[in-house]
Amino acid sequence: LLKMDHIEKSFGTTQVLHDISIHVEEGEFVALLGPSGSGKSTIFNLIGGMATPDEGTISLNDKIIHGQKGLIGYMPQQPSLFPWRTVIENVVLMQELSGKPNYEEASEWLEKVGLREFKKSFPIELSGGMKQRVAFIRALLSKQNLLCLDEPFSALDEFTRIEMQKWLLSVWEENRKSVLFVTHSIEEAIFLADRIYILTKRPATIKEEIKVPFARPREESLLNTNEFFQ
Ligand code: ATP
Ligand code: MG
Repeated sequence: LLKMDHIEKSFGTTQVLHDISIHVEEGEFVALLGPSGSGKSTIFNLIGGMATPDEGTISLNDKIIHGQKGLIGYMPQQPSLFPWRTVIENVVLMQELSGKPNYEEASEWLEKVGLREFKKSFPIELSGGMKQRVAFIRALLSKQNLLCLDEPFSALDEFTRIEMQKWLLSVWEENRKSVLFVTHSIEEAIFLADRIYILTKRPATIKEEIKVPFARPREESLLNTNEFFQ
């Protein structure tokens, strides 16, 4: 589905990425781990079309996509919500660009993630973790086959994080989405991902690629969070 081949990227004289080759297959769940400042978000910006590689190629379904936005369900590290739009209008933003916005579906999802009372609020009225959940739902509902989530749960408390992990897993399983996500948590990577890439410090290269064994306690999380938002 997604293929990055021998990517090189520098900002000015600073080389950030060196010889990065990663791929995500149809229906695969892949994690990207690496030290802070190594270049994880840079990789995502390249995939999302916010930047272009100096060398190497990035392709989606065998088509080169350098500099093209809107082809993936992208959740940036800083949840970039439009301040003049309400929460629900922010959620349907990507759908508006590519067709018909589904307010009903957006509304259901906002309720699922505990934001029932905030649908008509403006981003300034939300906490950091709430904004993250809005950006998460927006990426989920973008209708793209590949979700790229840059530290999607970093601002959430433990309970909410587990709840969101479960939603992500259920969306992934039900819709056969592919997911590439950045995390600082080895635990989270092992819990969610089929495969993990580990990056070195700058310039980032792929240090290791780990295939996570199949039998994992994905379904039976330690904490029962089902009634958390009720
Ligand atoms: P973190 O885990 O803290 O989010 P990261 O792995 O996502 O870190 P990046 O945000 O990709 O790291 O940044 C990698 C390096 O590239 C950093 O040294 C950063 O200063 C530099 N960098 C990123 N974007 C730019 C830019 N637009 N211009 C100049 N330097 C940049
Ligand atoms: Mg980052």
